[in-house]
Amino acid sequence: MPRIMIAGAGIAGSYLCRLLVKRGLSLKDIEVVDPGSATRCGIPSCGFATTRQFFTLCREVGLGPEKYVLASPDTGYANGIKLTIKGHIFSIDKPAFIRDLLEGAAVNSSPSGMTVERIIDATGTARAYIGKYEHDVIYPCIQKKVEFPHPPALAEYPHHVGYSWVIPLEGSSAHVGIGSNTYNSENMKKVVENLAEGARTICGCKGFIRGTGPIIPLVRGNVWAVGEAGGLVDPLSGVGIIPAMVSAKLLVDHWDDPKGYEAAIVRKYGWFRVTAELVQEWRDKGALNTRKLLGLWREYTELAGLDYSVLSLARIDLIRSVLRIALRAPKMRQ
Ligand SMILES: Cc1cc2nc3c(=O)[nH]c(=O)nc-3n(C[C@H](O)[C@H](O)[C@H](O)COP(=O)(O)OP(=O)(O)OC[C@H]3O[C@@H](n4cnc5c(N)ncnc54)[C@H](O)[C@@H]3O)c2cc1C
Repeated sequence: MPRIMIAGAGIAGSYLCRLLVKRGLSLKDIEVVDPGSATRCGIPSCGFATTRQFFTLCREVGLGPEKYVLASPDTGYANGIKLTIKGHIFSIDKPAFIRDLLEGAAVNSSPSGMTVERIIDATGTARAYIGKYEHDVIYPCIQKKVEFPHPPALAEYPHHVGYSWVIPLEGSSAHVGIGSNTYNSENMKKVVENLAEGARTICGCKGFIRGTGPIIPLVRGNVWAVGEAGGLVDPLSGVGIIPAMVSAKLLVDHWDDPKGYEAAIVRKYGWFRVTAELVQEWRDKGALNTRKLLGLWREYTELAGLDYSVLSLARIDLIRSVLRIALRAPKMRQ
């Protein structure tokens, strides 16, 4: 009889499963449940861009990160400003990574119904087991995988309250997408069509990003939330892959200590509440408070996998670029 059930085999649930096995739990004691997705890649939220932290987290569960890197662009453009990003941003083959994390585990499409000691809710925006959150904020996104005639550059553009992106993948392919708080689906489609001009469409999907920051309690009875189910995605940048993995680690580190788990999450990602407020303010007042945003530079450098003490000396050019982006974006200025 399984002792725990992991509901949701996205990045958080799969990474947690692998961590537990690494720490000695038998796969016989874990029931993994996920109904799957009808998308071409088989996973629902297909964002694949990540940072250097991925390398360490990957090695910690005995997997070689290089296997999953699809692209590692030298330069990127944020709101038209060129940035040197070599060695900082990578797109990964997320479906392959999830498959390897789950090696040897059977994923059932629905729960077996057996009684388990603990349920891990790793169901992302669904929060299928921990329950709905009264003040939930969910932003819609659309994304396409396309193939350009030439390898595209990584790019990001602000769009009122939200942003669109081009994330290079293998060869000349890329994800082009948009997440927005204010655009309707027609406007979002138009933006994506423009970004994808001249490219061949491979597939497309819709998704959602939670915009709340950590949702406390993370533990209710025998149900523990992890990853985006616990609100662990940055509402401003949409970065959720690393927080999903880190939260799984924190859960394992505090396996018998729910309060310790919540406290560790709040210490690490409590600032996502500040970015959630920034997004709300941006929507309500029509301008992003760049002063508050710049106040979060330490948190963002850490999220990007950079050591800010070294960064302040060696990566001063990056800080300057971020300042230029903030100051050159009139719509984003307070
Ligand atoms: C379009 C888009 C682009 C993004 N781009 C990026 C990016 O470039 N970089 C980045 O860091 N983050 C990105 N994100 C955010 C990131 O993908 C998520 O924050 C991250 O995947 C969350 O991981 P998770 O495992 O918590 O949840 P998910 O990846 O959402 O996994 C949840 C799993 O639960 C399953 N599930 C749902 N309901 C049930 C149920 N009732 N029972 C069992 N299983 C269930 C789902 O099928 C799914 O497999 C993007 C999100 C979207 C939508």
